Amino acid sequence: MLHRYRTFASAVALLLSAVAFTRAAPVAIAVHGGAGTLVREEMTQEREAEYRAELERALRAGHAVLVDGGSAVDAVVAAIVVLEDSPLFNAGRGAVFTHDGMVELDASLMDGYSNSAGAAAGVRTVRNPIRLARAVMEDSPHVLLAGRGAEEFATEQGLELVANEYFHTERRRSDLDRVKASAVGKTTTRADGANTDRDTAAFLASARYGTVGAVALDASGRLAAGTSTGGMTNKRWGRIGDSPLIGAGTFADRRCAVSCTGHGEYFIRGAIAYDVAARMDYAAADLDTATRQAIHEKLARAGGTGGLVAMDVQGNVAMPFNTRGMYRGAIHADGRMEIAIFADAEN
Ligand code: ASP
Repeated sequence: MLHRYRTFASAVALLLSAVAFTRAAPVAIAVHGGAGTLVREEMTQEREAEYRAELERALRAGHAVLVDGGSAVDAVVAAIVVLEDSPLFNAGRGAVFTHDGMVELDASLMDGYSNSAGAAAGVRTVRNPIRLARAVMEDSPHVLLAGRGAEEFATEQGLELVANEYFHTERRRSDLDRVKASAVGKTTTRADGANTDRDTAAFLASARYGTVGAVALDASGRLAAGTSTGGMTNKRWGRIGDSPLIGAGTFADRRCAVSCTGHGEYFIRGAIAYDVAARMDYAAADLDTATRQAIHEKLARAGGTGGLVAMDVQGNVAMPFNTRGMYRGAIHADGRMEIAIFADAEN
């Protein structure tokens, strides 16, 4: 009898510790598909459904990795690859055109647990730039590779290469034509990036939103963040934005993971991704406060537009933005899925 009781008691103890373990080890993921002038009236129901379906596919791909015990880095890469392969977003296939009618891609990845990072800028032939960022992080002594050298490294690493035309879509080509034809588009070529209304208008007109990013927390409590983009329509002179810059467009440490989207020049000057981490570190701000201050105070004060997705080590998610909309979604630590597009989202 006593023996039976002991067996029963240890089974209950095992069950309780399993429940406690599950509670103590939440996994979560959040993604964005870019911020911009997204207006409900200008979006058809079919289009909206397509975006939602792709965001959900990305979330599920990343979440499946986490549930299987994969790392936060694995999950971020899995989610971003889905969005890079989708023609809907400004990353990988479907990215925006440069002034010269090419696609040039930027991406970065950071592992907050090991404090390692990798990034690539201005690549034209790498099908999934986020995989290149990962290879730079794991298989090179460097953090950021650019242009031809980055492509040489991708070739050595055996990453999939494609012709630049693989990335081209009609929609992005007409964006380029439209921006080139509009007077406002021409102001994007300002080299000093000064804070003027015309700059902001140029961004809103030219960046057809759709940069993608992801943040994740794995069952071991590790955080990671990644971002991938084609940059801004009509960009020239090898322009690089915030997305491949650690601390500007992407950052992760043991407290938080952040991926940004918006007018890159402002995110670079404000070191916005790192700014969130710094507020949590130096000012002991919680994730919600830190991200709100970074976007609604620091970025907005400078005249910048955009948003971010961020996660802390408890799996809390924050997705603030100061544009009309931001494609975004999360699978929270309690398993709840959330996908939203517009600022006034009730969803
Ligand atoms: N941040 C990106 C860049 O400036 C663009 C975007 O997020 O839409 O390159």
